[in-house]
Amino acid sequence: EMKLSSEQAKLRAAARELAESEFAPKAAEVDRTESYPFNNVAALKEAGFMGYTIPKEYGGRGGSFFEAALIIEEMARVCGATGRIAVEANMGAISAVMQYGTEKQKRMSAELVLAGDKPAICITEPEAGSAATEMATRADRRGGIYVINGKKHWITGGGVSKLHLIFARVFDQSGVEQGIGGFLAVAGTPGLIVGKREPAMGLRGIPETEIIFNDLEIAEDMLVLPPRGLRRGFADLINAYNSQRVGAGTVALGIAQGAFERALAFVKEREQFGRPIAEFQGLQWMVADMAIALNAARLSLHQAALSADPFPDPLLAAQAKIIASETANAVTNQALQLFGARGYSRDYPMERAVRDARMFTIAGGTAQVLRTLVASRVLGIKAPQTRDGYGKPTAAIRA
Ligand code: FAD
Repeated sequence: EMKLSSEQAKLRAAARELAESEFAPKAAEVDRTESYPFNNVAALKEAGFMGYTIPKEYGGRGGSFFEAALIIEEMARVCGATGRIAVEANMGAISAVMQYGTEKQKRMSAELVLAGDKPAICITEPEAGSAATEMATRADRRGGIYVINGKKHWITGGGVSKLHLIFARVFDQSGVEQGIGGFLAVAGTPGLIVGKREPAMGLRGIPETEIIFNDLEIAEDMLVLPPRGLRRGFADLINAYNSQRVGAGTVALGIAQGAFERALAFVKEREQFGRPIAEFQGLQWMVADMAIALNAARLSLHQAALSADPFPDPLLAAQAKIIASETANAVTNQALQLFGARGYSRDYPMERAVRDARMFTIAGGTAQVLRTLVASRVLGIKAPQTRDGYGKPTAAIRA
């Protein structure tokens, strides 16, 4: 494990204390009722963990992504949904705005997050998943506003999030495409419509919904313009998303760590054949493999978090998310196995851990797409995925 400074060790201890006392007892209920844990959010806000990474001049704590990762793992270790809230309140959309936004955008966004909002990032569409740059949502300039039309799906926090960072193809007044941009809109704006909720497998405390834009009007000063402009807009905005990848990987790790610790306690206590099942070598080696994988995943995540300048290195973030998400699937399943039939019961938290861990090889760049990114970097070649890609490199590859 990375050596922590005394402040970092204190931060982690405080996060654990809050997670154990406030969130652990409610985690099963959050899952069962599929309701957003607003009370947990209030406690996170109280602790300064909503907007922990927001600079002090905007009211946050000015924390690093590494420190945020320490907090996130502790939350996810007891409650995956709360872990994900801690990610989106410190990474992803909010960090993109704090890096690229105007003064007005930063003030508005910081204020919302510090008041307890978990922003939503709206990229994926029914016909544009891994091929995100093929999105059809468009923003047409009309005078001093942009008019947005289109449909997103699988948007985390749809219906509970206030701040939305919306990715759209931008067209100027005469209908010429300018590139992909990110627009800020607040829930309640006419034309910003929450569609159907997905019946998701895990992490049921957070809604995943469609978000529909029906002539949504956004003032031009709510376009988040990265330094290289709209032509490289997607690449720059997705670069900010590397922080979210590290955050998501950390939630996967935390869920697996929690399941692992429960399994350790169980194998020492459960007896069969007249002895604790921890004495069977077959199980000892399972436990060893789980410990090895968790340690490797944590180090990879921490390395990626510490590489931030201002965002985590894309290669390190991709590697870390792959190892953390795949480790989480393996370790939660092994932990369930160690519990025997109890692991399969909804009266125990093991099946929830398996369900909760499952999304992380899919969302925020699948393990396959991220492997392509890794391969492209280590080979030092472009790896366009469209058939004519080598003739016409896509924005996704430049990202
Ligand atoms: P597809 O792109 O259709 O992929 C299907 C399969 O093909 C996958 O196995 C994929 O790996 C594989 N594949 C596709 N292309 C290639 C290729 N070139 N090479 C190899 N394999 C390939 N999106 C948002 O914008 N905001 C959110 O808040 C958000 N939250 C999410 C939360 C959850 C729980 C989930 C499950 C998804 C969320 N998403 C969100 C969407 C997510 O980012 C997409 O699901 C993801 O990018 C994959 O897109 P897709 O589902 O359309 O799969």
